[in-house]
Amino acid sequence: MKILVTGGAGFIGSNLIMALLQHNHQVVSIDNYYTGKTANLSPFKDNPNFKEYSYDITIPWKDNPEATNIWGTQNLIEFTLAQKSARLLFSSTSEVYGDPHEHPQKESYHGNVNPIGIRACYDEGKRAAETFCFDSKRQFGLNVAVIRIFNTYGINMLPDDGRVVSNFIVQALKGRELTVYGDGTQTRSLCYVDDLVRGIILMMNHPQHISGPINLGNPHEQTVQELAEQILNLTGSSSKIRYLPLPSDDPKKRKPDITLAQQYLDWEPTVPVTTGLTQTISYFKNALTKTTIT
Ligand code: UDP
Repeated sequence: MKILVTGGAGFIGSNLIMALLQHNHQVVSIDNYYTGKTANLSPFKDNPNFKEYSYDITIPWKDNPEATNIWGTQNLIEFTLAQKSARLLFSSTSEVYGDPHEHPQKESYHGNVNPIGIRACYDEGKRAAETFCFDSKRQFGLNVAVIRIFNTYGINMLPDDGRVVSNFIVQALKGRELTVYGDGTQTRSLCYVDDLVRGIILMMNHPQHISGPINLGNPHEQTVQELAEQILNLTGSSSKIRYLPLPSDDPKKRKPDITLAQQYLDWEPTVPVTTGLTQTISYFKNALTKTTIT
């Protein structure tokens, strides 16, 4: 198949491209390189099945999280409809559930998002993009697949993206205090990127072209405090934990119900968190020796 990956130079995009090339597909990456890194794609640059373009999918609109999700997705829907027989996979997010009142979160849950809060630009952008996808399916017959990605970690994460796994690992490796926001009792369920990528490819290739939405995440739930302690253990770091204020609208708990992924894709995560974290720690050890990130 010929596959276009937007955000190809990013964390998940580059891991997906690696797997697609291993399956002998032809892959084109598009990225505006705001956060994507050419280094993530350098292993593929001599592969004849791979092409890379610097382009902004939100053009002619402005770049911000709403624009990327709403207008970027709209552009891709039009592009998909203009092809003969293309399928669009839209990567949505567990953020559509907001600070959830249902636990674990099933795809049927409509969520609890504060539309004017600091996270709304991302959450509502993804929610609106899901709406575009399903309206375009109903009105124009768009062949679309929607996945809702839960917290994912692994190689090619940016050391300074502000996410909990990258922050804690970098802090531990540099001997700095680990910054736990709030009292650390909030929970997340962390999925290793290889598991996620396997789920994405199964959804793309679904023989009946189901649209979902389907949750892709690891149901292994832990508190942020437990994660901090686990990373201190695995790195052998003697860093201390520092408690900082919890950002507003930070979801108190999050855990995917993956019944639909099991049923329709025969998918569930297989990488235990300790294994995934160990691999991610060695990736960051290596990355930190090559960069000037302070
Ligand atoms: N978090 C934290 N310290 C950090 C970064 C994040 O305690 O240095 C917390 C954050 O408040 C949230 C959880 O870890 O409760 C996951 O944060 P992340 O930004 O990785 O993902 P999201 O909130 O989008 O699930």
